[in-house]
Amino acid sequence: MKFHVITIFPNLFDSYLNDSIMKRAIESGKISVHFYNPRDFTQNKHNKVDDIPYGGGPGMIMTVDPIIRAWSAARYQGAQNKIMRILTTGRIDGGRKFKTIILSPGGVDFTTDYAKHAVQDYTDIIFICGRYEGIDARVAQIIGEQAESVSIGNYVLTGGELAAMVMIDSLSRQVDGVLGNSDSLEEERISSHEMYTRPAEYKHKNTIYSVPQVLMEGNHKLIDEWRKNH
Ligand code: SAH
Repeated sequence: MKFHVITIFPNLFDSYLNDSIMKRAIESGKISVHFYNPRDFTQNKHNKVDDIPYGGGPGMIMTVDPIIRAWSAARYQGAQNKIMRILTTGRIDGGRKFKTIILSPGGVDFTTDYAKHAVQDYTDIIFICGRYEGIDARVAQIIGEQAESVSIGNYVLTGGELAAMVMIDSLSRQVDGVLGNSDSLEEERISSHEMYTRPAEYKHKNTIYSVPQVLMEGNHKLIDEWRKNH
């Protein structure tokens, strides 16, 4: 799975992608993350990527042109891969399928189901991260039906970067081989949000906190039953 991120703050992604599971997934080639900074695509002297809103109101809006140019570059990167694959496999269809996600607090909800389907249906996901008061609506109009506004929750962040990172993390979990043990995908089995590990008893301020007996007795039917209800 290839992720393409359009952002004016690519450095914000560094720490999370450079450690733990995300780092391993990148090193093993299961996922890759590519950045396109709208500032690098500006045609004006001061590399300006925002302007005041039509109709008045506070704050600034991200302008169409640098974002669309950055988006085209992300598409071109994919197209290049496609050409390479045609050259190496001789197949005409490079098999790349693009989806564009515009990060927006007013978009459709991002869920595990959304992540599962996206990983099945697409090879490349382009994220467009807003800043300031958001993105000129014509970005979505130009990209057309391949674009979708998506939200990570009913709250407003200062930018789309954290939201894109949340989605990249959740989508990556669904990519084959990213989690060391495929059994770790909780959706594949009966799971519970209440979980325990050793020790069986933990003492804190004169109280002993114990693991539920059923989990320690090895009766899997009873354990599944308990997990459904916890
Ligand atoms: N005035 C805008 C909010 C701008 S917040 C509005 O009401 O829609 C600035 C940027 O942060 C947005 O363009 C979006 O890219 C991102 N963002 C903020 N909250 C988000 C959320 N809950 N989910 C996804 N992206 C979010």
